[in-house]
Amino acid sequence: MRVTKTDFIHYLNCPKSFWLLKREPDRYPTGDFSLFLQKITREGFEVEEYVRSFFEKSGRAVAFQQVFETDEGLYARADVIEHSASGGTFLYEVKSSTSVKTDQSTNHLKDACFQKICAERAGQDIDRVYIVHLDASYKRDGLIDPEKLLKFTDVTEQIADLEGETAMEIDKALALSRKETIDRDGCPCLYKSRGNQCDTFRVFNPKIPPHSIYSIPRLSARLRADFVSRDIFDLRDVPDESDLTESQLLVVKSAKRGRPIVNVSAIKAFLSRINFPVYFFDFETFASAVPLINGASPHRQFPIQYSLHILERNGSLAHCEYLEREARLPLDLIEKMQADIGSQGSIISWHASFEKTRNKELAVDFPHKAPFLDALNARMVDLEEVFKTDYVDIEFDGSTSIKRVLPILCPELTYSDLDVQDGTSAMEAWQRMLSAEPDEANSIAQALLRYCERDTLAMVEIYRFLVAL
Ligand code: SF4
Repeated sequence: MRVTKTDFIHYLNCPKSFWLLKREPDRYPTGDFSLFLQKITREGFEVEEYVRSFFEKSGRAVAFQQVFETDEGLYARADVIEHSASGGTFLYEVKSSTSVKTDQSTNHLKDACFQKICAERAGQDIDRVYIVHLDASYKRDGLIDPEKLLKFTDVTEQIADLEGETAMEIDKALALSRKETIDRDGCPCLYKSRGNQCDTFRVFNPKIPPHSIYSIPRLSARLRADFVSRDIFDLRDVPDESDLTESQLLVVKSAKRGRPIVNVSAIKAFLSRINFPVYFFDFETFASAVPLINGASPHRQFPIQYSLHILERNGSLAHCEYLEREARLPLDLIEKMQADIGSQGSIISWHASFEKTRNKELAVDFPHKAPFLDALNARMVDLEEVFKTDYVDIEFDGSTSIKRVLPILCPELTYSDLDVQDGTSAMEAWQRMLSAEPDEANSIAQALLRYCERDTLAMVEIYRFLVAL
């Protein structure tokens, strides 16, 4: 049984889940390799290419992707191994982040320590270990300069401190991977929120009902532990006198009654604060590890398009849109917004803090546009707010995301007929469009425009649904 660095990190996060993947891969609910993960993986390869060109230019004696394997089953592919002129051997671990991460879910030091231990057990001594990552202060200016883009952080001393403990963990992971069976009862993650449970939660906890205490938004660890200790998982079993907040109790109430809990007068008050013409506005953005746009830093997010539906008091609806066709800072986009958005009326977004933050960043990039962008933010209304307390349906499963709310309220309006169906694929498509032949670029552009348009049309329909209440 082979144990790679990825397996080892998996083991550290959860031995049980690691065991299932190694011993019963058919039962492991891997799901789709999400677009987001694909993007991260591709960005990792891209950074590796710049590391390769850095070393090739330097003329140093290095090997890329050298494999180390041991008889006990450890397997490592080192990003770069350098046999230095002074006689030492250095290991370089490449990351697409802008710093060395040491948190529990992403610990670069553990990654590098695994690589070193594996290389040494395979017979290759390692004298120094470096994490190669991106320099957050780098701003693209023409062709990428690997010397300015990359930062080399010497982590040899930190790795030395971790080595004893990591070697023991590696041995435990190897031993577990050879075990025929494990205790399958319950998961420690019963005490964690849904966001912290893994794909295998349902495999180890098949009796947890679909609408469970994990559907309660922002449930405190104390209350979760209390429910678990009393064997309360089904929302319908949660006692009415529980110490939950008002909005949490609404989710429970909706589950018990099997219907939405609607506060019509609060919705009426919310709608009365909206002024005509009503602008339904949504940005799509792009970000990449290695900056694609001149003037951008690693991972900096920029708007690349927007959709705008304009609803007049008489019910007429108009649509405007903009898609950036070049890799450049979005000044033209802001100017089109200025032409499309009048000085009166509310601007409705879903999870408006996202649009507001982008506007604030653009105001820093283009100070002469700051008054316009600040004024937009002052007029912005967040439609998502209604679904936190005033319209709560257990069918949203404790979420207020537009992708959960829309299919319940407006089932006829879906994203399923679109070529682009989420923000990550929009980023991918936009990057492809930039280098595509004209015909393909045009069809990608159409797909992007239709996707963003659907987002604002969804808001219009949800708004109309609320008005009809
Ligand atoms: S949900 Fe269960 S299997 Fe998954 S990480 Fe948590 S404890 Fe492990």
